[in-house]
Amino acid sequence: MQITKHQLAKGTKFETPYYIIKGNTAGKTVMITAGVHGDETANVLAAKKLVDLLQKNVHHIDKGTLIIVPIVNQIAYKRRFRGIPDLNRTFPCKPNVAARHPLASELFRLAKQFQPEWYIDLHEARGFSKIDPSVLGQTLLTNPRSEAIPLVKRIVNHLNRSIAQKSRQFSIRIRHLPGSGRTAAYRLLKSNSITVETSTSMPKAIRVEYQMKILRYLLNETGLIKDERTSATA
Ligand SMILES: [Zn+2]
Repeated sequence: MQITKHQLAKGTKFETPYYIIKGNTAGKTVMITAGVHGDETANVLAAKKLVDLLQKNVHHIDKGTLIIVPIVNQIAYKRRFRGIPDLNRTFPCKPNVAARHPLASELFRLAKQFQPEWYIDLHEARGFSKIDPSVLGQTLLTNPRSEAIPLVKRIVNHLNRSIAQKSRQFSIRIRHLPGSGRTAAYRLLKSNSITVETSTSMPKAIRVEYQMKILRYLLNETGLIKDERTSATA
């Protein structure tokens, strides 16, 4: 396994680190982004923790390539606000149409370069979707007809089995969100795209834990992680 650190939007005010982790053998490419919205924090902590665990060799990428961008919008994250404009409405909607924000443009360029089979965008939202269908806290989202749907169902079933409190269980939403990184990767790069939304109505440590569980399950299922330590902690 080889881990390298790079800078996205290098030399601009949007500069932010990303990591490329290559397994020793060929396999799928998974791209994980967090911090697209600066006021969502558990997802950023989980992405940073994953990088840390990989660097300490607690987790090990066997096969394929993992790309992690732990804090996409550094400026918004430092100030803990969502960001203006909403970065997740500025990704390209059609082929040959440019992104409407330099960060979305750089992030999409990185995705285009690696053509990930899986594009995972980590977020947080208010409320509990199981008890209030109008909110997005505790949901996984993917696009209509996406090949990600079966895995999304497996992740949600896996998580919900261990969540006794019904309100905290995850639900699934299948919809396009034009201008989002998820829908851009799905439509323009044919990636299996998933958005993860943990609920900010819970303590942060629990939210980080859910984000980590989802990532471990996903990396296992996509064949990147295959070791005893992972299944023991998943
Ligand atoms: Zn968000």
